Amino acid sequence: DKKKLYSPSYIREIMSKYNFKFSKSLGQNFLIDGNILRKICEEGQVSKKDDILEIGPGIGTLTEELSSRANKVVAVELDKALIPILDETLKDCYNVEIVSGDILKIDLPKLFKEKFKNENIKVVANLPYYITTPIIGKLLEDELDIDSILVMVQYEVAERMKASPGTKDYGSLSVFVQYYTEPEIIFSVPKTAFMPSPNVDSAVIELKIRKEKLELENRERFFKVVKAAFSQRRKTILNSLSSGLKIEKDIIRDTLDKSGIDSKLRAENLTIEEFSKISAILPPFNI
Ligand code: SAM
Repeated sequence: DKKKLYSPSYIREIMSKYNFKFSKSLGQNFLIDGNILRKICEEGQVSKKDDILEIGPGIGTLTEELSSRANKVVAVELDKALIPILDETLKDCYNVEIVSGDILKIDLPKLFKEKFKNENIKVVANLPYYITTPIIGKLLEDELDIDSILVMVQYEVAERMKASPGTKDYGSLSVFVQYYTEPEIIFSVPKTAFMPSPNVDSAVIELKIRKEKLELENRERFFKVVKAAFSQRRKTILNSLSSGLKIEKDIIRDTLDKSGIDSKLRAENLTIEEFSKISAILPPFNI
């Protein structure tokens, strides 16, 4: 009878064999619920047509499930202590390739070219939570040839990603994620599904990459405007843009007038389209 990688007794056994200790600072919370592993793969519609990039395989629980359903899995793991463990736990998974490295430092377009010959590439992962935002940022900004990203994140971060204008969770992360993707929270996951169990609840969120994005004259400028707007959420859009971008209030007021936006509103009231109008009309700034 094959041992289940996700069973706590097996995880303890392999940890003691390799003298492995969980690293809190690397966000190591391993999934121990087989139903959730299967559900992630089912919701991601992972099939033999797909090549998968996994981030942070841990001891390989999700990797094994992905391997049985996908054409190929490439999994990037930072913790060198896990590499020999993965060699053992995934020794029968011939379509898995482990890459030892930091997902934030790897040249992803190059990795994709080297490792994936397939047309259908998906990202599926139980992310290390301490770097959720930089990872999502990198995956989206690199404009990789992927249709969707299905990841486990902190529940509260999932809510911020999909938040609409006028809600307390709406912020620069919402604008960033929704500019590139259509986010959907697929299901929530309790703390008890992990070992060790984290302090927060989690959610699996799907980010469907938009084929047609809002047209922007200058993307970098647009995101600077959004960041400045939300840098002081309590202030009016007039004041936050003026102090965030170091531009005189009269100029900001004039821009808001031309964009048809009430200068007393706050950043959380503005839609992505309104931010894009502001960034198109604003004169050059230097931050
Ligand atoms: N996939 C496993 C599971 O679901 O049980 C482990 C998920 S655990 C939440 C996150 C994993 O990401 C850990 O194995 C951790 O070592 C790894 N990790 C942390 N920082 C990383 C980085 N910068 N690049 C790649 N992997 C990283």
